[in-house]
Amino acid sequence: MDEFRSQPVAPQKLFVDGTWQAASGEALEVLSPIDGRPLTTIERALPADVDRAVAAARRAFDDGRWSRCLPAERKTVLLRLADLIEAKALELAVLGVRDNGTEISMALKAEAGSAAATFRYYAEALDKLYGEIAPTAPDVLGLVHREPVGVVAAIVPWNFPLMIGSWKLAPALAAGNSVVLKPAETASLTLLRIAELAAEAGLPDGVLNVVTGQGSVAGEALALSMDVDVMVFTGSGNTGRRLLEYSARSNLKRCYLELGGKSPNIVFADVPDIVQAAKVSAMAIFRNAGQVCVAGSRLLVEDSIHDEFVAALTEAAKGLKVGDPLDLSASIGAINSLSQLESNLGFVSGALEDGAELALGGSRILQETGGWYMEPTVISGVEPTHRLAQEEVFGPVLAVTSFHSDDEAVAIANNSDYGLAAGVWTANLSRAHRMIRDVRAGVVHVNTYGGSDLTVPLGGVKQSGNGHDKSLHAFDKYLDLKTAWINL
Ligand code: NAD
Repeated sequence: MDEFRSQPVAPQKLFVDGTWQAASGEALEVLSPIDGRPLTTIERALPADVDRAVAAARRAFDDGRWSRCLPAERKTVLLRLADLIEAKALELAVLGVRDNGTEISMALKAEAGSAAATFRYYAEALDKLYGEIAPTAPDVLGLVHREPVGVVAAIVPWNFPLMIGSWKLAPALAAGNSVVLKPAETASLTLLRIAELAAEAGLPDGVLNVVTGQGSVAGEALALSMDVDVMVFTGSGNTGRRLLEYSARSNLKRCYLELGGKSPNIVFADVPDIVQAAKVSAMAIFRNAGQVCVAGSRLLVEDSIHDEFVAALTEAAKGLKVGDPLDLSASIGAINSLSQLESNLGFVSGALEDGAELALGGSRILQETGGWYMEPTVISGVEPTHRLAQEEVFGPVLAVTSFHSDDEAVAIANNSDYGLAAGVWTANLSRAHRMIRDVRAGVVHVNTYGGSDLTVPLGGVKQSGNGHDKSLHAFDKYLDLKTAWINL
């Protein structure tokens, strides 16, 4: 790991039409969250650069170099890409950690490991997708074809860029589309490397293009493009709203949004094992310093075990070492940017002003490193109407609220604009199923929190978004249905 840790990172270019290209804007400096120091620069794409990338993707799609090649050939290339990612897993993970601050133990598994598995999953699936013959009149043949949609624009966030990026890229490419990818300003490096590996794996020029730069400039230009057919996005609700607006103002491109969450983690008094549940609940909010869309950021605890559970959880949280994310002994890494750290601290002071109580943490730490670190923070006595109960922090800040009955737990859980994930801890099977039925969320974990793999979809309800990443359902975003009605 040490060899990659100290490796200088060359200034990065855009990857367009199979070549590294300069952008028209002045390069953006990339600071590492580990120590706040400059790591490298990325190009700042302006609208003309984005248009160039979209045009390359369009040409590649229209001439069929990928969209019409044999499924078996697409599969071979994507499997090769998965192998290359796996072979470079440590290098990719370390680069990503230097860029975005995620703890290395998590990055190895959730970033590089997951990206390789995702490309493999969709490569294996792509030649098992069939069309349909409709059960219509006997003198007619009704065929339902599934066709790639064309040019896909993918805009992704800074938490888990490789994992989330692959959740979009792998099914989009497997289905035969061309892609223009816009990573986040503070987490572009590993996705640029994926473009390079994809070319090495044999992906034809122009099929995958990566443009870096500011969301409000490069991202906006991509979302306003008249030649993008589908926009897939993971990020904040504010940006998601803008994308829908850009779509309406341009070519009505379809927009699939994976947005934020304020996910309730509900602990009933009959929880099978309080200490174990407290440990898992601590990781549900504190892993990756809370920068996880499905983080269990609202802990709802039945009043009869409230004090005992909060004590067990704070005890577990005290055992989590915050520090250099490249140190394998650190359970929690850095905050992605100084502005995110300041925003987290603002939520803490706001909650205390609202009358809630600080049970643990609350401060910036390790300032002497120059990096951006924050203590795991637990705030109890949070009312469901408080800002901390309603707004996503996207940091290591847990809001604790107590409840008295099942109905009250459901009411508090659903008192949110979001509906991404939830957790339920109980030994009562019927109650678990009632909660799965009644809590509005894209995923409900029972007697665990955060478990998942590629076989199940991830998506939200309410203002947590639409559409799904992962599983075979993800193909729906990247394939159009076309009917052929043939008179026999
Ligand atoms: P963000 O919305 O600020 O940025 C996401 C991406 O959008 C970045 O690439 C950014 O450059 C781009 N962007 C910003 N403004 C834009 C604009 N006007 N037009 C086009 N593109 C623009 O989000 P973030 O801070 O990078 O990520 C954190 C958010 O992502 C949190 O809300 C988190 O919950 C959410 N998230 C959701 C999921 C999920 O699966 N639902 C997963 C991870 C993160």
